[in-house]
Amino acid sequence: MKRTLITGAAGFLGSHLCDRFIAEGHEVIAMDNLITGDLKNIEHLFPLERFKFYNHDVTNFVHVPGNLDYILHFASPASPIDYLKIPIQTLKVGALGTHNLLGLAKEKNARFMIASTSEIYGDPLVHPQTEEYYGNVNTIGPRGVYDEAKRFQESITMAYHRFHGLDTRIVRIFNTYGPRMRLNDGRVIPAFMGQALRGEDLTVFGDGSQTRSFCFVDDEIEGIYRLLMSDYTLPVNIGNPNEITIKDFAEEIIKLTGTDQKIIYKPLPKDDPMQRQPDITKAKEILGWEPKVGREEGMRKTFEFFKGLSKEELKKTEH
Ligand code: NAD
Ligand code: UDP
Repeated sequence: MKRTLITGAAGFLGSHLCDRFIAEGHEVIAMDNLITGDLKNIEHLFPLERFKFYNHDVTNFVHVPGNLDYILHFASPASPIDYLKIPIQTLKVGALGTHNLLGLAKEKNARFMIASTSEIYGDPLVHPQTEEYYGNVNTIGPRGVYDEAKRFQESITMAYHRFHGLDTRIVRIFNTYGPRMRLNDGRVIPAFMGQALRGEDLTVFGDGSQTRSFCFVDDEIEGIYRLLMSDYTLPVNIGNPNEITIKDFAEEIIKLTGTDQKIIYKPLPKDDPMQRQPDITKAKEILGWEPKVGREEGMRKTFEFFKGLSKEELKKTEH
């Protein structure tokens, strides 16, 4: 039986990865310090003998007894309001955390994957973004703590690959959404859905002309799994190229949720990228992967999830 360590396991993507690797027959060792995650996301796996949970901060030395075949390092605050609130932890988990886990991968001779991000392209001057684009990041801006931690994470991973011959994978994840997103994480989908469910107006930042391309979580997990199992060691974009402006997106959500809320405008946060769309030619050619779930279907499933939350959970909001 394969043994797989997943960090950030109690978070949105980490918990879906736990489900996937359990379904693939692996023994899963889940690790998280719960700084932005929630045990609720994985508690259904607790009764399984093939599932173990360690409450541990990976910026401290990481020890796991026994062999490991795969390590997926997904621990990191991932939403702008999280990494603005906990900037030092964000830098540490990308830098020190990655270093610790690379050391563990080397000791166990395990295949190692990092969750990189479209944010390494910053506010991109090339559109759509190909893996060859070096990016346009403000190192000292408020988002720099996340973007630069992720850029360092890619560099140290490639250094371990080249210098120590470690078997590594780098997935560049573009905006992903779906069930188990935290309602108050400030990202645009939970923000708009929470507002719609509470009967509040939808807050569009700036004039709403900035674009994003949203990928449903099931598609993202499939792409990540295929990349891990492939023999390709350079970065691969995994995301849905279907691009939309944030203003049009707010209007779609108003239609989907059947509410009569208005759109209100708030200042655009500093360094908020103006456009983002993955070029997924590599994922198609190398992994035979492309997204299957359209935004309408994905957003419907996501709305069902948020509708199922209790009134108390719905009240918790950053807006
Ligand atoms: P999330 O906040 O839901 O999950 C992150 C998890 O990491 C949380 O459970 C948190 O408690 C844990 N964590 C943070 N610091 C830790 C530490 N020092 N030690 C142990 N655990 C720690 O975020 P997510 O959306 O699931 O993102 C997961 C990963 O994917 C992150 O690395 C993120 O940068 C990357 N990513 C996500 C997206 C997206 O759209 N969701 C896009 C690009 C990249
Ligand atoms: N956004 C918005 N209203 C909100 C939250 C976010 O208009 O209540 C915008 C945000 O400024 C950005 C886009 O939606 O342009 C996506 O934001 P998110 O935080 O989800 O992801 P990221 O900026 O990291 O891609």
